[in-house]
Amino acid sequence: MAVITRFAPSPTGLLHLGHAHAALTAWSAARRAGGRFLLRIEDIDGTRCRPEFTAAILEDLAWLGLDWEGEVRVQSRHMTEYRTALDRLATFGLLYPCFCTRAEIAREVAAAGAAPQGPDGPLYPGTCRHLAPTARGARIAAGEPHALRLDMAAALALAPAGLSFEEAGEGRVRCDPTQFGDAVLARKEVPASYHLCVTHDDALQDVTLVTRGLDLKPATHLHRLLQVLLGWPEPRYAHHRLLTDAAGRRLAKRDGAPSLRALREAGRSPAEVRALAGFADA
Ligand code: GLU
Repeated sequence: MAVITRFAPSPTGLLHLGHAHAALTAWSAARRAGGRFLLRIEDIDGTRCRPEFTAAILEDLAWLGLDWEGEVRVQSRHMTEYRTALDRLATFGLLYPCFCTRAEIAREVAAAGAAPQGPDGPLYPGTCRHLAPTARGARIAAGEPHALRLDMAAALALAPAGLSFEEAGEGRVRCDPTQFGDAVLARKEVPASYHLCVTHDDALQDVTLVTRGLDLKPATHLHRLLQVLLGWPEPRYAHHRLLTDAAGRRLAKRDGAPSLRALREAGRSPAEVRALAGFADA
């Protein structure tokens, strides 16, 4: 099978060496296999993403010597496609509106004592799952802001037992999507979640090998569930190490990780920056 990989950054800031490592991982995997490397801009969250960072990403990657095939997919231009996927999940009876604010959820979780933590935060206690259809309808009709949550128990009941994904160097990994609880798939200010958009686009773009940081490995448990529910193909996965600073902290802009742009302005060559990102031979 042809290898199709992608780098899918969110334009919330300038790229740093951690991003360069992620991009080079995907790009070199495609190169080694004579496959294709795609670039996708994950800018659904309009509260955090900025167009000038998208422009900077394209420029910095080209400077680094990376080339991608075809048009860059920019998620914010495809909202209706994500809406259609959400509508399909709703048709299966797997979504429910959740009117709880973050503060209300935090209060409930605190009152319940020890609420389990999921990869995206404390598990939702399920308050709105029990609302009567008439109450839901009335609150939506009144324009009350709400998120859409996946009814995890109902979703698992529709999925085949023993769901798993293929991780490079590890073999089949058994999925446990329940660690997310009733995951948010859309909210008022971000009308489709990362989880929905990323699985939608990997399927649409025929991505066969998803490479991304180990921090996103838990998300794959939920992504496999969405894939089987929506009839999307299963890619292979290779979660890569995260680059750290001298103190062992994962590189992050807020901790002062130098941007690719700053390295370039300081006179580093693309080959030097590729080496700093762990790809001396790329
Ligand atoms: N857009 C995500 C991020 O910047 C990565 C998505 C992915 O590779 O699955 O963290």
